[in-house]
Amino acid sequence: MRMFVGSLATETNTFAPLPVGRAAFEGAFYFPPGQHPETPTLCTAPVVAARRRARQDGFELVEGTSTWAEPAGLVSRGGYESLRDEILDQLRAAMPVDIALFGLHGAMVAEGYEDCEGDLLARAREIVGPKAVVGAEYDLHCHLTEKRVAACDVVVLFKEFPHTDFLARAEDLVDLAIRTWRGEIRPTMEMFDCRTLTGAFMTNQPIGRAFIDRIFAMEGKDGILSISLAHGFSAGDVPEVGFRVLVTTDNDRPKAAALAEKLGREVLAMGRTATPRHYKPEEAVELARKATAWPQVFGDRWDSPGGGVPGDSTIMIETLLKHPDVPSAIGATWDPVAVELCHAAGPGSHLWLRIGGKATPVSGPTLDAHVVVKAVTDDLVIPFEQSWVSLGAAAAVSVGDVDIVLCSKRSQTFSPPAFTNLGIDLSKKAIVVVKSSNHFSAAFARIAPAIHYLDTGGPFPHDPLKVTYRRVRRPIAPLDANPWP
Ligand SMILES: [Zn+2]
Repeated sequence: MRMFVGSLATETNTFAPLPVGRAAFEGAFYFPPGQHPETPTLCTAPVVAARRRARQDGFELVEGTSTWAEPAGLVSRGGYESLRDEILDQLRAAMPVDIALFGLHGAMVAEGYEDCEGDLLARAREIVGPKAVVGAEYDLHCHLTEKRVAACDVVVLFKEFPHTDFLARAEDLVDLAIRTWRGEIRPTMEMFDCRTLTGAFMTNQPIGRAFIDRIFAMEGKDGILSISLAHGFSAGDVPEVGFRVLVTTDNDRPKAAALAEKLGREVLAMGRTATPRHYKPEEAVELARKATAWPQVFGDRWDSPGGGVPGDSTIMIETLLKHPDVPSAIGATWDPVAVELCHAAGPGSHLWLRIGGKATPVSGPTLDAHVVVKAVTDDLVIPFEQSWVSLGAAAAVSVGDVDIVLCSKRSQTFSPPAFTNLGIDLSKKAIVVVKSSNHFSAAFARIAPAIHYLDTGGPFPHDPLKVTYRRVRRPIAPLDANPWP
């Protein structure tokens, strides 16, 4: 048996003013064939899972390029086409292959391509022919289009949000693909379109946890091979955005269709009850002030670089500076210019610094503060589950008891080392604010008595009713009343 595996991933917020070219992939995460590290990252996990399985089973694995760009705005046509064609040329050169697998995010949009992954997979299918097994793993925040599902035999999505299971789901994908090739199973996929932009839920919250635990329990029994919930990514203005349920059975189409619809309707019934409270900035400070155990950790959900927005919003920094008696830390705020100035000044220096608020009109005002440079580093590298993430050159500055981490590479604040690597003692803080939607929660829960979510208003377009969609297929909730058949 001969398997090919490659990875091309980013998440496109079509409303974000941050263009993405090939250089954004090469600067973030780019490994030519065979050079992918031994540790998996979010969307390249199939490469590592396939590698481990090939060693174990002794089959032949041909690796293609693996690359990822931090979520941002539209991908350039040239950037997408050059990376797509690079991987497809590698696949062509690897022929004949029995199995072709891809690590994708699933919400990439490029100039002229509303469904990049559908385009890539349809072309891959043309190369390998109808008999080979084609499969893909996606982030659950994907647009699960009909075109891409039709091009594949097996599709597996992350189930957990925070995404703690990217490697485990990649192992599922590799296993299902191998069993399909051996003729042990005949994966049969059916999808139910929930026609909603707001079905997303968190699996670290009680309702979402119970639901996903039930899904896990259904898999591997009664002919159900796999169940995936595509939460969608509502910051992508594309026709097939929205929540979808995909059920894969062993050659039982009616069962797959019935279960997908049943689970889809359960998601709709769950509605907003699965969403935890989101605190306004002043409410967050008040909560920390009244708490009896610290630090109280808040995710600045609507300024998470993971959602394609800049990560340079100053709204919460401004609030923390108004409360100098509440010891706090916030980060990592994206500001390469401020980082460079801190590096030039050096640790221990006092200077006037202009911080954040530069990339979009909704990132809050840029802040001028007299700061002390506490620490600098050439590369702030932090863990996220089994992967390592670089925030680039970084600095910690303080104004009284408010510590601010500044970074030069846009990425989420996944874990406490974003602070502790720069000498910030989080146990001495009443409130810690991190630029992340939810991926921070697992790692911060280990050092904090409580995890919360913050609503600073933006810049992520989190309320579909306030967004001007042009390409979304209608009807869809909440834009249209009762869009369900
Ligand atoms: Zn995601």
